[in-house]
Amino acid sequence: GFKCGIVGLPNVGKSTLFNALTKTAAAQAANYPFCTIEPNTGEVAVPDSRLQTIAKIAQSKEVVPTRISFVDIAGLVRGASKGEGLGNQFLANIREVDAIVHVLRCFDDDDITHVEGRIDPVADADTIETELMLADLESLERRAEQTRKRATGKEKEAILILPMMEKALDLLQNGKPVRLLLDGIAAEDLRLLNALNLLTSKPVLYVCNVDEADAANGNEKTKAVATMAAAQNAQHVIISAEIEAQIAQLDAEEAAEFLSELGLDEPGLDKLIRAGYTLLDLITYFTAGPKEARAWTVKRGAKAPQAAGVIHTDFERGFIRAQTIAYDDYASLGGEVAARDAGKARDEGKEYVVQDGDVMLFKFNT
Ligand code: GDP
Repeated sequence: GFKCGIVGLPNVGKSTLFNALTKTAAAQAANYPFCTIEPNTGEVAVPDSRLQTIAKIAQSKEVVPTRISFVDIAGLVRGASKGEGLGNQFLANIREVDAIVHVLRCFDDDDITHVEGRIDPVADADTIETELMLADLESLERRAEQTRKRATGKEKEAILILPMMEKALDLLQNGKPVRLLLDGIAAEDLRLLNALNLLTSKPVLYVCNVDEADAANGNEKTKAVATMAAAQNAQHVIISAEIEAQIAQLDAEEAAEFLSELGLDEPGLDKLIRAGYTLLDLITYFTAGPKEARAWTVKRGAKAPQAAGVIHTDFERGFIRAQTIAYDDYASLGGEVAARDAGKARDEGKEYVVQDGDVMLFKFNT
């Protein structure tokens, strides 16, 4: 499955957020650094109102959302790239995730220690980013030397990867994350970049952790984060981890009431999960029938047989074609039969690129 790693300095609210996300007590929140030592992984359902609409129309007995994973990654401190704190383990854990959810402390609370003794989320972001850049720089410099030699020796693989390596090195040497290369990158270049397996090439979402009072509109600190994020082409969300932990305990009715008291129209976690999904560059297609309505995840750009393969490898191997109805047509016309009658059910073949919201039915050989 696809994984977002939750990172941040100690005591910024990572565990609180993770607990809220998974509604488990597995990652205990506590007021001291390095509380979360083992990386904890939790799967969450991706909220999508389209799935409920489809289930209603198809009169499905079961509704099965798609899921993504969050990993609570042990606290990083200044010097991690030199092995300080849980440095090396932290970096290894980040290497395993597909995207980074970076939690920043945007709340004041004298009772909760800040490892650096001041509340400055932009400086915090910079502290972590610097450690990741130093780790990338060191590993790339080590590899580049070898690769240059091999490229001179006309080794094909080395010749192919070297230009991407040099581009990444150039950014890092100028104190910039490799992520800046992601903007508008071609598929082949992305493959090369991913092959370098760097930390700062992973997409980032900043989470501003605020107190209850600022959950709806943020504060001066979240504004500073917003400016920083925009400059990096990154997204940010404002969340109160403590409130989310409370909401996670309530039933739907109580939660709705609590949210409206706070001036929120949905739980922050829903926002966060959707933002994580977008960050991972994932899209959703649906299957619908009387037994179940279900959401499935594919990487953006996936073709129909690959999408079928998410359900079962046999579906991919024996793929013949897919009947495809765009969600808007399915919802506005009132289901599969009506969509077919209106000529909105398309037969798509092996080369069809799946679109977000497609309601699909696969024909395959067994
Ligand atoms: P981690 O080290 O980043 O995992 O941080 P924790 O989730 O363990 O949180 C550290 C402390 O900050 C705990 O005592 C939390 O209850 C507290 N905390 C988390 N979020 C907030 C918040 O939004 N406001 C306040 N005042 N405290 C918070």
